[in-house]
Amino acid sequence: MLDILVIAPHPDDAELGCGGAILRWQAEGKRVGVLDLTSGEPTPFGSLEIRAKETAAATEILGLAWRDNLGLPNRSLEHTLDARAKLAAVIREQRPRWLLAPYWVDAHPDHVAATELIEAARFWGKLTKTDLPGEPWHAERVVYYSCVHLKVLLQPAFVLDISPYWEAKRRAIECYHSQFIEGRPTEPPTFIDRLRDQAAYWGWSIGVPYGEPFMLREPLGLASTRDLL
Ligand SMILES: [Zn+2]
Repeated sequence: MLDILVIAPHPDDAELGCGGAILRWQAEGKRVGVLDLTSGEPTPFGSLEIRAKETAAATEILGLAWRDNLGLPNRSLEHTLDARAKLAAVIREQRPRWLLAPYWVDAHPDHVAATELIEAARFWGKLTKTDLPGEPWHAERVVYYSCVHLKVLLQPAFVLDISPYWEAKRRAIECYHSQFIEGRPTEPPTFIDRLRDQAAYWGWSIGVPYGEPFMLREPLGLASTRDLL
């Protein structure tokens, strides 16, 4: 059983969107897993074999308790009833309190489909009198991370301090050499430089070196204000 299940359209989206949070939550004793919905291939410089090796290397850096791939079709990911049932089955098996999903505004159709699919599968997870395996389970919260293919100015519900984890997050992202290094401009600012600048911007917004933004559709309830920055 997991405390937090990060669901990603493609291998690398979890690292980009919430790699720092994954590292922080695990350091705080939470069991975190990642479910990639598709292989992410084909891409210009990748292959199934290369992407699998890159994912394994990043998974090791993140120290994940659990990672799996749902095997849905890349580039043509759709919110179908069959895909919803497959994802709901994983949610009922892993019983996470939180689901992490891509932010709902995106140019990439796979990302938009993933968000719809996750929200619907969360609902199906709690159904009784169904063919779904396992016992009903309703994840308490869906938290949306940013791996957006649009230059949107996000209005996050909260920003998490990932300062102690930025370097490991960067190394995990760099494992995806075929996606973020090969074929990309080498003159600064590189793609990785831009990611660092974004993490620094979110860090600046809360007065720390590096941060990650998270969005919510529902208000965030606080039992205490003790740990607020
Ligand atoms: Zn993606």
